[in-house]
Amino acid sequence: MDVYGLIGNPVGHSLSPPMHEAGYAALGLDARYVTFEPDADAAVAAIEGGADLGVAGLNVTVPFKRDALRAVDAAPLAERIGAVNTVDYGPMRAGETDRPRGHNTDAAGVTRALAHHDVTVDGREALVVGAGGAGRAAAFALADAGATVHVANRTAERATELAEDVPDATGGGLDDLATRVAAADLLVNATSVGMEAPEETPVPADHLHGDLAVLDAVYAPIETRLLREAAAAGATTVDGAWMLLYQGVEAFEIWTGEDAPVEAMNAALRAELE
Ligand code: NAP
Repeated sequence: MDVYGLIGNPVGHSLSPPMHEAGYAALGLDARYVTFEPDADAAVAAIEGGADLGVAGLNVTVPFKRDALRAVDAAPLAERIGAVNTVDYGPMRAGETDRPRGHNTDAAGVTRALAHHDVTVDGREALVVGAGGAGRAAAFALADAGATVHVANRTAERATELAEDVPDATGGGLDDLATRVAAADLLVNATSVGMEAPEETPVPADHLHGDLAVLDAVYAPIETRLLREAAAAGATTVDGAWMLLYQGVEAFEIWTGEDAPVEAMNAALRAELE
């Protein structure tokens, strides 16, 4: 049996176990997906040592995504983003490498969620609101897929620093949000606004327009105020569960080498969320 898992703290509420286990069941794979919740000072050693415990792959979540970089050989995209959310012990267990391989599948989560909804990224103007972990992944993903990216963040310096690392990107604060949204084809909410206080939105309704595609990284609630108001403005909307699904699908495919059973994983995820 192959053991996969999620390492973070806390991980008790995670939706990944049912999503991945639905994928194993659909493909008839003999595998389990479990959670690990180490203290901060033990996390890097735990990630480094996963192969010694016979673990085949780990997802990494808050607050260890940056720390995980120290435990792995990071793929170039994970290195650029500065965070690892997927660790693959396969090459190490096969004796091909000395260290686990680290990936960032949040980036693919963004682009594959948009592709699922037939949203074109190449050549588009993308506005990423937020410059934390999700914002970094979204900015790199969209730029690599051919969009011109502007990052807007409450703390403007964080956005300008991120934009310096992303090809052809610009960054700033929230003062000119109305102009930025008006000029955008794609809007990604990568802030946590709308999660703990569902009545809040990162972008006022009167900024939204019908030529937008809006992806909200927030997945609880599934239908955020931003998505409700974007749909009312005629925009295409993509909820955060699609991003969560596709970061998991990408990890599943890295680990197993199989095409992930997307429908089964999506059904399990949505059943859990609803
Ligand atoms: P993070 O690193 O802590 O970043 C939080 C971001 O939200 C920062 O840009 C922060 O701005 C901004 N922010 C927080 N409160 C704000 C407010 N009241 N007004 C304006 N901006 C505010 O968090 P993260 O890991 O990027 O996660 C962000 C969200 O994405 C969370 O809801 C998380 O659940 C979600 N997420 C979803 C997926 C998925 O697969 N769907 C994956 C990753 C994350 P400052 O820099 O100014 O503090």
